Amino acid sequence: MATPLKIIMIASECVPYAKTGGLGDVVGALPKALKQMGHDVRIIIPKYASVDARKFGLKPFHSPMGVWMGGVEEWCSADEALTEEGVPVYFIEHQGFFGREGIYNNSRHEDYLDNSRRFAFLTRAALQLCIDRNIEADIVHVHDWPTAPAAAYLKTWFWNSNVLGQAASVLTIHNIGHQGKYGRDQYGYTGLGWEHFTADKFEDLGNINFLKGGIHFADMVTTVSPSYAEETRNTELGAGLSAYLRVKGDAYTGILNGVDYNEWNPETDPFIPARFSAANLEGKAICKAALQQHFGLEVNPNIPVFGVVSRFASQKGLDLLYPAIHTVLKEMAAQFVILGSGEKDLEYKFMQLPAQYPGKVGSFIGYNNELSHWIEAGSDFFLMPSRYEPCGLNQMYSLRYGALPIVHATGGLIDSVEQYDEYDGAGNGFLFWDAGPKSIHNTIGWAVSTYYDRKHHMAKMIQYAMGQRFSWERSAGEYLKVYEQALQRRRQLVR
Ligand code: ADP
Repeated sequence: MATPLKIIMIASECVPYAKTGGLGDVVGALPKALKQMGHDVRIIIPKYASVDARKFGLKPFHSPMGVWMGGVEEWCSADEALTEEGVPVYFIEHQGFFGREGIYNNSRHEDYLDNSRRFAFLTRAALQLCIDRNIEADIVHVHDWPTAPAAAYLKTWFWNSNVLGQAASVLTIHNIGHQGKYGRDQYGYTGLGWEHFTADKFEDLGNINFLKGGIHFADMVTTVSPSYAEETRNTELGAGLSAYLRVKGDAYTGILNGVDYNEWNPETDPFIPARFSAANLEGKAICKAALQQHFGLEVNPNIPVFGVVSRFASQKGLDLLYPAIHTVLKEMAAQFVILGSGEKDLEYKFMQLPAQYPGKVGSFIGYNNELSHWIEAGSDFFLMPSRYEPCGLNQMYSLRYGALPIVHATGGLIDSVEQYDEYDGAGNGFLFWDAGPKSIHNTIGWAVSTYYDRKHHMAKMIQYAMGQRFSWERSAGEYLKVYEQALQRRRQLVR
């Protein structure tokens, strides 16, 4: 192995302590894989009110700690715990900022009005903790807008620190739709200096843009799939930041997330009615029958089941799937099972569907982890009509469970789903290029005809899909290359 690196991850989420989405999964899984490869990794996150201090064995680590923000000194402390794999996690405790029910918003889904202060403080406090406790770093790896300013702090405030002065910064973008835009009146508190409030750094049409500033200052910027990197660089999916990503050149790249196969493995899954493997698919037939029965569908092994597990948000394209389900059911023998929650209008529509198509559609509105495993295990196909998808996890789970994914060709879906070839049965799923009800209808039709008419191709694709692995070890190897590049860039910059 190359020389072990000292890596600090600073983030607003980390599984199992605090999670709202994929960011939390990555910050939970990547350090584990890096540690197994012999690197020294430490994680710094807030101590939210929701973090169960007793369950996770938090202990006092550093107190009191004074953190200078623009013109004010904030006082806080830090606790410490170890993950199951022995990775140290430091929790920044600040009752005023983090002692609340939610991570970014309250229970009415309203963003906290002081989020710019909360996360600028988190970032500054995390770096201060390293200085105070002499925690040296080769790499400071930050995630999305909340901790993006670390890249700037490192180059402006801590550039001559003994502890952090040599550290290179890596910023990972999990979803460029969230940039951390706030009024310029919030800028002073960050302490970043008005010379950096310019259009190429933190300024965005007169306001602050945390992510944009982070992109400018980070030695390397990554996102969660190679295709999403291209889309954000070159299309409207860059959400206004394409030009700034293009400027980064080779310093912007995409790395596909890995899957936690301890949790998503049909051979050991404790949630599903029967276990199965590529070599023995009998259990999958049992899972399909149980799924059909649970959702009140006709229990019939010869009708293809299409599964959906999703947030109901415009990004996920379920409003495009909804009309396609109606047209498909007019023409074809197929069944649909939908699990999800989110936008009220879609919740209502999908809640009504089983009554309109008795025995053909089942739905559950809500969040239910066990049911999501049932759907992966019991479905023949898995639908993801996302308008955009930075990485996506469900398509990788469904490959492992032999539920062939049917996906819009975007982002991480392009990088994990390979188009079925009707000539020889190659591929692992079905891609469509135009996200609209008509192409969704046609692609489902293609899958249905494959299911009925080309069973040998179905069998071949299922074998291939179930044998594929999108492991964290592979992703961690890619991140290590990025860390090396970041260090090289940083060395050229050190004053
Ligand atoms: P995103 O992070 O954008 O929501 P991903 O496909 O990357 O999309 O990951 C979604 C994760 O959340 C998956 O693990 C999926 O199984 C889970 N999930 C989403 N909605 C539900 C739900 N209603 N019930 C259970 N799990 C869900």
